[in-house]
Amino acid sequence: MEFSIATIRQQDPWYCDPETAIRLSTWTEAPGGLRTHYEHPVVGDDPLTKERGLPVTVVAGVEDGPVLLLIAGEHGNEYESIIALQEALRALDPTALRGKVVGVNCCSVDSYLYQSRVANADGQNLARVYPGKADGTLTERVAFTLQNDFLGQAAPHKPTLLVALHTFGPRLMGATLSGYNIYPGEPSLSRTQRQVSLQTGLPLVWGHEFDASHAAASVMGHEASGRTALYAAFLAGIPAVYWETAWGMGGEAEYMRGLSRLMVHLGMVDGENAPLEPREFIESVGHGAGLMSSHNQSPVAGLWRPTAAVWDRVRQGDLLGTVYDLYGDPAHEMRAQRDGVVISVPKNQYLDAGTHCGIVL
Ligand SMILES: [Zn+2]
Repeated sequence: MEFSIATIRQQDPWYCDPETAIRLSTWTEAPGGLRTHYEHPVVGDDPLTKERGLPVTVVAGVEDGPVLLLIAGEHGNEYESIIALQEALRALDPTALRGKVVGVNCCSVDSYLYQSRVANADGQNLARVYPGKADGTLTERVAFTLQNDFLGQAAPHKPTLLVALHTFGPRLMGATLSGYNIYPGEPSLSRTQRQVSLQTGLPLVWGHEFDASHAAASVMGHEASGRTALYAAFLAGIPAVYWETAWGMGGEAEYMRGLSRLMVHLGMVDGENAPLEPREFIESVGHGAGLMSSHNQSPVAGLWRPTAAVWDRVRQGDLLGTVYDLYGDPAHEMRAQRDGVVISVPKNQYLDAGTHCGIVL
């Protein structure tokens, strides 16, 4: 069964009509020809919520045009994403821009302040709770704010494209990538997301099938819920991609080049993109293929030592790395479950049982 956006909106008990939910929209009134910033309030009026407003930078062109929505720091400990966004927005000349670039420099300020993937206030992963709840936890209210005040705007403020900037986090190495969901019920949205990803110049382009009906029926906050920013954009009828890069390995430069290529592609700035093919272009079939934490989980805890490197081509059964005990004896050998390309492996580190030890696509 294939589901359209309209059907999924009805299925998801948490989806609101944004016209009834939009409150304040300061970014929509940003003056043309200028770069401005402000703190966008998260819905709710308790003291902690008031301290966790969203740092937003708007670069508004003089001429009307597309609205490019860029979000970073959904996981506050993924610093390259925040740095790349700050620098890309600083480098833009608003007088040479058509349309508007709206950057939420850090979405989960609470997780940023605690150097963590999840918010300290509620232990929740922002990238699993869209479309959020107006009266929920802090993280659910952040999601609600992004869903309605940003993605939920009507034309001419409706975003043309969402890019959610991430990294693999401090413990993983990985290929810089532009990823997107393939929605069997929305082929034209899926096609746009593929085209956008192929324009970025990022070395890996990865599409994965996604069952929005599964997300709509899932518990908010569950790791496998699929309630990501991409799903939020789907609910809003907006194409969306997410980017990943490796923590501390120079992803900022690839991200900044990618963002500048996207603005050319969308006609927001003059110029032409020189052809830049991805090193690998992979589309994975089957719901859940894009959930990285489900790949190659270690059954035991211990000290991980990688054997395979990012971009290695492996065959099913090849060794990706080994988990050792504290005497240096191997406790588990992690072997590739399929033929493919290694796109991420952990750095040397202690692993809990259940941690994923490499992604092979
Ligand atoms: Zn992330």
